[in-house]
Amino acid sequence: MFAPKSSIDDVLIAVAQQEVPVNRTVNLGPVQVVVKHGDVARWNETQVTDTLGRLFKAGGQDPALALGLTDRQLRLWLVYAANMVLGNPGAGFDVKKALAWLVANVGKVRPVMPSPSGREFELMVLGRTGWLRAALRASAQRLTQGERDRVVALYGPPPSGAQGGQGAPLKGEVLKELLPKLYAHMADHVRQWMRPAEVPAAYQRLGDFKAIAELAQFTAWEMLQPYAAANENSPFFTGFDYFDNVFDKTATMPSDEDIVKHLMNRAHLLGEDDSAGQSIFAAAAYDATRQEDRVFLWDLLSKWIIEDKPRRAAVFFCRHIGSNSHGQPGGGVGLVTEFKTDRPQSEHRWELVEVIVHEMVHTLLHPDIKLKSGKVTRPLVILEGFVEVVTREVFNWMIDHGDEGTTARLMIGVSGDLVKPKRKVALGYAQNGVHADEIFKILGRERFLTAFMTGDTDLLGLPA
Ligand SMILES: [Zn+2]
Repeated sequence: MFAPKSSIDDVLIAVAQQEVPVNRTVNLGPVQVVVKHGDVARWNETQVTDTLGRLFKAGGQDPALALGLTDRQLRLWLVYAANMVLGNPGAGFDVKKALAWLVANVGKVRPVMPSPSGREFELMVLGRTGWLRAALRASAQRLTQGERDRVVALYGPPPSGAQGGQGAPLKGEVLKELLPKLYAHMADHVRQWMRPAEVPAAYQRLGDFKAIAELAQFTAWEMLQPYAAANENSPFFTGFDYFDNVFDKTATMPSDEDIVKHLMNRAHLLGEDDSAGQSIFAAAAYDATRQEDRVFLWDLLSKWIIEDKPRRAAVFFCRHIGSNSHGQPGGGVGLVTEFKTDRPQSEHRWELVEVIVHEMVHTLLHPDIKLKSGKVTRPLVILEGFVEVVTREVFNWMIDHGDEGTTARLMIGVSGDLVKPKRKVALGYAQNGVHADEIFKILGRERFLTAFMTGDTDLLGLPA
């Protein structure tokens, strides 16, 4: 006997049935979510319509408006989403607010449907309604007093030994010792592009960075879950396209304000450096939490860059270093397009892949964390060190999981020998990276990423 051949209809129906969402527990790392999608899948039209009316009412709208929602997929999406949210009440989570958001936004967000085994639907709905943020924060073990003391010491202490900018006044003359150090620092950086006058510069096309930006964005979303979905206003949810924000730094002439901003960043790096004894900031009693000290440094740098030599170095420096001023007027991610001359092009490209990841991670740091950088004496631990911690995770994942095809895409436009990427071990930004790494180790990955993405400043031991 032969089994009857199945028709294409039978095959299609069988495939469609396999894709019916089921009841299960979705594992989101530190938190588990019970979904009853299978129950919803069996509902008939009348049940769906009745439920929608009740949801609109609970969401603060006229139940009659539910009749206006006619698209079958969107109707189902809303019922699935509400059923999940209602089935998983949690500490600190506002169910009513979540329902109001779902009802108001059905059709406005990308309606990912639940699947039998994926978790994109859950990440999106639980992330955007604030459920994930509340659940991760509630599941995170608060800092013990011992942990808090260790972490707090890594953001400070104020150089004069006093809290809240009440220490010794700034010694402006001592702070000026920063200027020759800044010049040497820029000269060191410029050296990587030195070439004889008759050798033309080699450039990379900005468009070649698109594939890298896309891969970085995709990787971050994939491997930083559930944390990456735990900020309802995360760039991942708001139509953020990394490459849209990228511009050619090398082709852009910096304004005086841009130059001083770059130099402020470097001045902090060099001013805090205590690897050879007392730092210049400590010697000058510079306190980054005092506005007048920051203004003094800003003015010092503004005057310095009027001089010819520092200005030439600073302009070259700005055009040859990646930066991120996303969210500020005229801002974006500036990337260097001129190839370095002191190493193979592929080695420079791997560095650039890391820079692209780093600049993207800046956009993921929760704004509440960023705000606190003004309250500690080592702001770069937060602004750059924390970003470096997450950059290491994403960059290493990219090179550990990359195949030949991925490498080929990342190396578009590169000529010469292909050198292998180096895994990122140490963090950049000198002592700031070291301190951030210490904080990461004290907290552990779960607490660190929860705080980074949800803006839980208390969990990072940051001042209130
Ligand atoms: Zn940065």
